[in-house]
Amino acid sequence: MPRYDGRPLAVDSEQITNSDIWARRATIKRLQAISNQSSVGYCQMDADARIEDCNPAFSRMLGRPRDQIVGDVLCNFTPAEDHDTARTALMNAVDGGETEILVRRRFSRADGSIIWLGLTLSIVRTPKTDPILLFAIAVDLSDQVKTEQALAESEKRYRQLFDTMTTGTAVHKIICNAEGEPVDYEFISTNPAFELHTGLNANDIVGKTVKDVLPATEAFWIETYGKVALSGEPAQFEQYSKELDRHFLVSAYCPEPLHFAVLINDITEQKRIAKERETLERQVLHGQKLESLGVLAGGIAHDFNNLLMAILGNADLALEGLSPDEPARRELHEIEKASRRAADLCQQMLAYSGKGEFVVEPIDVCDLIHDIQGMLDVSISKRAALTLDLADVPAVEADATQIQQVLMNLIINASEAISSGSGLITVTTGTMWCDRAYLQSTYIDEEVDEGQFVFIEITDNGCGMTPEVYERIFEPFFSTKFVGRGLGMAAVLGIVRGHNGVIKVYSEPGKGTTFKVLLPASEKNSIQKDDTPTQARLPSNRDETILLVDDEDIVLTAGTHMLQSLGFSVISARNGREAVDCYRASKVTIACVILDLTMPEMDGHEAFRALRAIDKNVKVVLSSGYNEKHAVVQFNGKGLDGFIQKPYRTQQLLAVLEAAIA
Ligand code: ADP
Ligand code: MG
Repeated sequence: MPRYDGRPLAVDSEQITNSDIWARRATIKRLQAISNQSSVGYCQMDADARIEDCNPAFSRMLGRPRDQIVGDVLCNFTPAEDHDTARTALMNAVDGGETEILVRRRFSRADGSIIWLGLTLSIVRTPKTDPILLFAIAVDLSDQVKTEQALAESEKRYRQLFDTMTTGTAVHKIICNAEGEPVDYEFISTNPAFELHTGLNANDIVGKTVKDVLPATEAFWIETYGKVALSGEPAQFEQYSKELDRHFLVSAYCPEPLHFAVLINDITEQKRIAKERETLERQVLHGQKLESLGVLAGGIAHDFNNLLMAILGNADLALEGLSPDEPARRELHEIEKASRRAADLCQQMLAYSGKGEFVVEPIDVCDLIHDIQGMLDVSISKRAALTLDLADVPAVEADATQIQQVLMNLIINASEAISSGSGLITVTTGTMWCDRAYLQSTYIDEEVDEGQFVFIEITDNGCGMTPEVYERIFEPFFSTKFVGRGLGMAAVLGIVRGHNGVIKVYSEPGKGTTFKVLLPASEKNSIQKDDTPTQARLPSNRDETILLVDDEDIVLTAGTHMLQSLGFSVISARNGREAVDCYRASKVTIACVILDLTMPEMDGHEAFRALRAIDKNVKVVLSSGYNEKHAVVQFNGKGLDGFIQKPYRTQQLLAVLEAAIA
């Protein structure tokens, strides 16, 4: 009997004879003895896959005694739902003339558990090619399958995470030139969030390089990613992509050589909010700074005005008492002139502090511009040509003198900005509707209601401003000029703010500047001004008594002398209470009370009310170093007979008194 020669059992069926088969069976029997000891499972089946024999390992694998296995069809030990697939696969292999197939299949053990077996099925055929025998070698793959399943599960979870995470993720391969320097990179895979953040579609980019997809990609990205992919060092950075116009927070790492994976978060919105907050904080800080400077400037101006009142008043009185040829007159005139200039400065400081406004009426800004044209012609540089382009505009509720001051300051600044060659200054007026967004874009630190605004635009083609200068123009005492005082723009801001207006500034170094002042349009029509100034005359002999009320001694002294020089009798009081007592106790009729606004004990308002309670026909002229808008508003329509701002001069005092007493 020929012995099995160890050649593979496959199969040149023509050559196989029965004796061969018997020889092989014998061999197999011998092998069976070995296989009884083996941990590898083994079973032998007939052509219908009915098990004829199996080794103990196989029976252990199926968890059944041998006699429960032998005689049954192999496929019956698979779970019911697998029967068909198992059978079909086997039949296909047999019918297809296969000699050996490898399958991995699960089997049900007697205790109901499942075992995964890897089967090597050898199909032995007769010369007529009919299979007569099947051998199966089985190894337990349960551990391997478990590991694979766990791997598949975690891969699935990662895939899910990859697909659902809001962080954009993509894997790329770096592309280097001949010198090994990174020059481009290829998109390998991307997740949906990556598509969302970048607006790039996976179908359009995977397999392509960044230079194909975004040709203008900045070198930064390739260099940075190149370092990560080549060195293996991770990187994290924030970067703006010009191509995509977005800000990204990027973490990049190297999952395998020459590759890099990125995690990107779109932080464009956070950036925008942060920038907005920063701007707002800067504006608030700036506003607070200007506000406190305003308080300081207002306080200084107020006290200075009282001092100037004494200086000017006394200089005035001294002049009146001196004969025309007295040499000291010249010095006194100098004192007067210097004091006047100091008073002008105070006026600017008051305007800046927003405490200088006192006569608000509907005015036409175009009329104002015409009124100051003469003054402008002499004030602005000969090199500058002034063009007016004035439209018909509604009235604005404003203090004419202060708005004129705004215009003068802006136009003189424009003229001073034209330092070389010749230049153009254009003043344009118009009306426009300003919504919240527009108002917020202006230079403003208070809420202004949206509505119809009258604008006055002053444009020059002078030196313009650098961003550093632009930042500081409204600060009091900020000046870039050799002889500048730095109060002009501060006053402009104070006045415009006091009128609930806003300012917009556009400037470019070397090109020029435009200031646009916007004031809320009034519903009222502008009133016609009577511009014939009241000529004050010194009275020959006024036999009237004036009650002068002020908490400052120097003001009382100077004021008393002035009034006396005008022929009035004077009673003085140091505060509101004293004034009321004096008025009540006075034996003589008091023709007029000159009442300071801010005083200790009883201020101007209270004193005014108390005086009116005693005598409803009392004449009261209000006087103040500054005059808060709201303070004056409280007197509106209550029979105030005049207002005089300190420092005043004898002539002005007389004019106001004449108007009040008349
Ligand atoms: P001053 O005119 O006394 O310097 P201002 O308060 O009027 O003070 O102006 C402050 C600063 O603002 C000026 O010194 C100048 O640098 C800048 N500025 C104002 N207006 C203009 C303008 N039209 N063009 C260029 N710079 C200007
Ligand atoms: Mg100026």
